[in-house]
Amino acid sequence: MSDILVETKELCEYFQVKKGFLSSEKQTLKAVDRVSVTISKGETLGLVGESGCGKTTFGKTILYLNRPTSGQVLYDGTDIGTLSKEDLRKLRLRMQIVYQDPYGSLNTRMSVGDILQEPMVYHRLCTKKESHEKVRELLEQVGLRTFHESRYPHEFSGGQRQRIAIARALAVDPEFIVCDEPVSALDVSVQSQVLNLLSELKEKRGLTYLFISHDLSVVRHISDRIGVMYLGQMVETAPEEELFRSRLHPYTKALFDAMPVPKSGVRLKRTTLQGDLPSPINPPSGCHFRTRCPYCTEKCSQVQPVLKDVGNGHFVACHLFDK
Ligand code: SF4
Repeated sequence: MSDILVETKELCEYFQVKKGFLSSEKQTLKAVDRVSVTISKGETLGLVGESGCGKTTFGKTILYLNRPTSGQVLYDGTDIGTLSKEDLRKLRLRMQIVYQDPYGSLNTRMSVGDILQEPMVYHRLCTKKESHEKVRELLEQVGLRTFHESRYPHEFSGGQRQRIAIARALAVDPEFIVCDEPVSALDVSVQSQVLNLLSELKEKRGLTYLFISHDLSVVRHISDRIGVMYLGQMVETAPEEELFRSRLHPYTKALFDAMPVPKSGVRLKRTTLQGDLPSPINPPSGCHFRTRCPYCTEKCSQVQPVLKDVGNGHFVACHLFDK
C-alpha cells in the first residue's frame, strides 16, 4: 500500500480576468501551472515563495475549494475530480484548512463552544452531549482552558484565536490539514508557540500538513520537505535538511539570501533577487524566473525547464542542472 496521502498531477488553476477596469475582454491568469507533487502520510510539506506566487491557490485547489482547470488531485489514491457531491462532502471531513487570519475565519457572534460544536453537529459526527465533551477535550489539546468555551473570539489574543481555529479544524478528526500562513499575522514570540502546537498535534494525531508560508525560517521549523514556488510553478523540492545544506535554484538561493540572520536580525545580502514578481497573466517565456536571474542564457528564454531529479530526494527546474 502506498504511503502517499495527497498527490497532484499537472495541476492547473487558471482564472479569467478582465483586461482593464472598463474592458469586457478577458485574459488568463495562471495562478497554478502544471504542479505535480506528492505528500506522504504523516509528512509536512512546506511551501514557500513570494506573495502572489500561487501558494494559497494551490492549497485551496488541493482541497477542491477551487475546482482545478485541469490536472488531478489524488487523495489516498482516489481522484477527487471523479467523486460525487456526497462523496466529496464526506472526503472534506478528512481534509481541513487553517487560515492566516483567525479573527476573519471565526464567527465573532458565536461562542467558542458553539464554533467548535458546529462542524460536529452539522456533519452528525456525535450527539450534542458528546460534542460538548469533545469541545472541552479540543480546548485542552490546543492549550486553552475549558472555561474558554463560553467566551467569544474578540476576548482572545491573536495566538489564542489561532488555537481556536486549529481546534475547529480538528473537530471533525481530519487526517490532512492545509495550514495557510497560520502564524504570519502573529507576533514573533507567539509564532513558535503555535508552530510547536502544530508539531505536537501532528505527532499525537498522525496528521499530514501542507504548510504554506512566505517565511523560510517558519517553514524550516515545521517541515519535513520543502517546495519552492515561483509564478505558479514548483521550481525546487527537497527534504528540509538537504535544501538548507544545498539549495540549487537561483530563486531559492535569492530567498535564502533575503533571510534575516537570527542573532543580529541583519540581512546579509540581496544579491540575486532583482525587481518585482512578474504578472502571472503574461509570464516571461521559457523559464519564468529569467527576468530576475543573473545566470540567464538564450536557452532560458526559449525552453521552459522542468523538475529534474538531482539525487537525495532533491528536484530542481533550472537549465543549469541539465545533464
Ligand atoms: Fe536562471 Fe535559466 Fe535557471 Fe531559469 S533556467 S533559473 S533563467 S539559469
